[in-house]
Amino acid sequence: MTLHLHDTRQGRKIPFEPMHDGKVTMYLCGPTVYNYAHIGNARPAVVFDLLARVLRRRYELTFARNFTDVDDKINAASIETGKPIDEITAKYMTAYNEDMGALGVLPPDIEPRATRHIDDMIVMIEALIEKGHAYEADGHVLFDVDSYKDYGSLSKRDLREMIAGSRVEVAPYKKAAHDFVLWKPSTPELPGWESPWGVGRPGWHIECSAMAAKHLGDTIDIHAGGQDLVFPHHENELAQSCCAHDGADFARYWVHNGFLSMDHEKMSKSLGNVVLVHDLVKTVPGEVVRLALLSAHYRQPLDWSGDTLKSAKRMLDRLYGAVRGIDVPEDVRAAAEPPEALVAALEDDINTPKAMAEFFALAKDLNKASDGGEKIRLAASMFASGDLMGLLQSDPEEWFAGHVEGELSAEDIESLIEKRNAARKDKDFATADAVRDQLAAANIKIEDGAGGTTWRRDD
Ligand code: AMP
Ligand code: ZN
Repeated sequence: MTLHLHDTRQGRKIPFEPMHDGKVTMYLCGPTVYNYAHIGNARPAVVFDLLARVLRRRYELTFARNFTDVDDKINAASIETGKPIDEITAKYMTAYNEDMGALGVLPPDIEPRATRHIDDMIVMIEALIEKGHAYEADGHVLFDVDSYKDYGSLSKRDLREMIAGSRVEVAPYKKAAHDFVLWKPSTPELPGWESPWGVGRPGWHIECSAMAAKHLGDTIDIHAGGQDLVFPHHENELAQSCCAHDGADFARYWVHNGFLSMDHEKMSKSLGNVVLVHDLVKTVPGEVVRLALLSAHYRQPLDWSGDTLKSAKRMLDRLYGAVRGIDVPEDVRAAAEPPEALVAALEDDINTPKAMAEFFALAKDLNKASDGGEKIRLAASMFASGDLMGLLQSDPEEWFAGHVEGELSAEDIESLIEKRNAARKDKDFATADAVRDQLAAANIKIEDGAGGTTWRRDD
């Protein structure tokens, strides 16, 4: 089977073939760094981290995810807080990488920052002017949408009709209402760079076009991002890049994740209905959040609720429970592979619900196995599946011992279990039952088996 991806431009799932044998380039639009990332922002980071992991099994991947560190929202945050822009962007870039790291997102190969690529943007804008696709007006440089006949091919919008039907106020310096900004003038209190058009700053779209070209070449294999970026951001990136590079296609496959909502409303900073990853990972293991984000197919909407996390936690407890107590030798673990069906599900347009079903089928086989060698083999395959999906990265004992502050610690629990077992031995059933109730009240479930008493947090 070859890898298949749903391509937004073609509107269907198609076989994936890289432009150059064995090598793949991928660009993901990263965060605008003026605030902590919410779990909606984390969805593309996690989903496309998984795609990167899947691609790396077959190909030599170069994966770039940018930081937008010049933007009017950042300028507004600087004015509001009185803090310098560099301080704001540095703080939230670090926080972003820490928070995504907590969700098992591996660092991309390249993390370009917009402010470090202003020269590349200027060169690209100059090329667009020279080739007749952009014009200067009133200190601005605008992309001339009418000069690119394929405009709208990605988002399937007829922009000319759209604008004609709306009553947007058109800036006087624009030739046409749908022309978009490549460069705009800055006043002294705003960030600005010298350019042939005066001191100014870039428009958002040109940032990604310039950074993708610089690090991955004129044509990239995969361009990824959230669904809201299809229009206008990606449509504009496509127009600019294609026109600057004499018609060379910009991205061969376009992949977009669906929205994460809360109570069926899109989670967004402007609506204020956000759950920050930064806060969440203080109380919930990052793997639980990761699995919750992967629980729905990436193109489907995902409605977030308390149950989303609870069910992800239960799923992980089942997986960790299956491998618990099985000692897998290092070399066996290193050589193990995930089941073919699990890999096939991920290679089928990142079908995570199907992949998780295969993961559970493997856990079930392991739970049923009685032969020691078979158990080790299946457990090793569980760990290999976990490595691929960014799950099962904790030691199983530590996983079940993990607790949030204010709860009973693992040591407290172990000593209570010892106390209960001693009481049972002495036939002091009242004490034994009281201890059991105390543990139950703290959401600790205990199970008595042939090998002794085991416990887990039940929430
Ligand atoms: P931003 O920092 O707003 O530029 O967003 C960073 C990334 O998060 C982009 O790829 C957005 O498409 C994506 N994104 C923002 N909100 C959501 C959401 N509620 N659900 C899924 N993806 C989102
Ligand atoms: Zn972008």
